[in-house]
Amino acid sequence: MKKLLSLLLCACCAVLAAGCSPNKVTRGFEAMDTYMQLDVYGAGDSLADALQQQIDRLDSKLSATNAAPAENVIYQLNQKGSVEADAEVLALAKQSLELCRETDGALDLTVYPIVEEWGFISKAYHIPSQERLSELLPLVDFRRVVCGESALRVENGMKLDFGAVAKGYAADLTVESLREQGINSAICNFGGTVAAYGKKPGGSAWKVGIADPENSAAFMGYVTCSDKIIATSGSYERYFEGEDGKIYSHIINPKTGYPVDNGIASVSIISENGVLSDGLSTALFVMGKEKAQEFYSSRADFDYIMLTDDNKAYVSEGVYDSFTLAGGYAFDVVKIKRQ
Ligand code: AMP
Ligand code: MG
Repeated sequence: MKKLLSLLLCACCAVLAAGCSPNKVTRGFEAMDTYMQLDVYGAGDSLADALQQQIDRLDSKLSATNAAPAENVIYQLNQKGSVEADAEVLALAKQSLELCRETDGALDLTVYPIVEEWGFISKAYHIPSQERLSELLPLVDFRRVVCGESALRVENGMKLDFGAVAKGYAADLTVESLREQGINSAICNFGGTVAAYGKKPGGSAWKVGIADPENSAAFMGYVTCSDKIIATSGSYERYFEGEDGKIYSHIINPKTGYPVDNGIASVSIISENGVLSDGLSTALFVMGKEKAQEFYSSRADFDYIMLTDDNKAYVSEGVYDSFTLAGGYAFDVVKIKRQ
C-alpha cells in the first residue's frame, strides 16, 4: 500500500512538473556555413531530428559552394547553365527573384561571381582590379535568370546564389513544420536569422537580441515579439582588411561590384516571412539610410532596425515601442516613420 502511494505521488509530481515547464528539446548543429540552434517546447528528439534533417536537405540542395551532393541543384545550374528543378526550388527562386525586382536590384542573387572574385568564398581575400570587375559586372543581372515550369536557366558565366535568403527560407520551413505538429512555442536561431515562434511557455512574448556590431557575441538591444522572423545582415559577419588598410565587407553593391561602404553596421528586419526578412536585411544594407526609409514607406509588411557606425539606431515605427536598448549602450535611438 505504502509503495503504491509513493508511486502515485511520484506520478502526480511528474504531471505537475510537465505542466509547469513543458518538455523542451534543444538542438545545435552546423548547416549553411553557420551555427544553428533550435529550442522547441512541447516536443521531443524525433521532431528535432526531422527539423534538422529538413535543413540539411535544403543545404545540400541549394548551396552554391557545396560541390559534392548529386542533389545540389544550384551547383549544377552554375556549372551547366541550366538544370531541372523541383517545385520547391522554383517557388523559392520565384519568390526571391521577385524581391530582387522589388528592391530594384539592391538584392541581386546573381552577384555571386563578384563575391567569389573578392575571395569571400575561398577566403583568399583580395581587392580585384577595376578591369576584372568590369569583366564580371555584365554577369550580374537577376532579370536574366529564367525560371521556367520545371527548370532554371542562366546565361553563360552567370551564377545564382541563395546565400542572402536561404537562412530565411530555413526559418519559414521550420515554422511551417512546427505549425503542422501543433507546437505552440519555439525560438530557433538559424545563424543570426531568428524565428520567434508563438510565445514563451509562460505566455509572455520572446525577447530577441540585436547583436552589437563591435562585439557580435553581445546584444546592444532587444525586440519583444511573437510570431516574427528577425534577420540581421552585418558588415561584421564577414570582412577582411585590404592591403590599403580599409575594411571590405561581404555585402556587395551589385551595381558597382564593390563591398558596401555607407556607414551602416547592421540591418535587422522584422516580419512574418523569413525569405522577406532575410532578403530585405541584405537589400536595405545596400540601399543605405535614405533609400531604406523610402522603401519602408512604400510598403507595410516589415519593420527594421538599422545601426550605423556613428552609434545611431534607426528603428522603424512598427517596432519602436518593442525595442529596448541594453544596459551600458549609448546608441542614439531615432524613430523612423513612414513618410
Ligand atoms: P546576408 O548575410 O543574408 O546579408 O547575405 C549576405 C551574403 O549574400 C553574402 O555573404 C554574399 O554571399 C551574398 N551577397 C552579398 N551581397 C549581395 C547582394 N547585394 N545581393 C544578394 N546577395 C548578396
Ligand atoms: Mg539576408
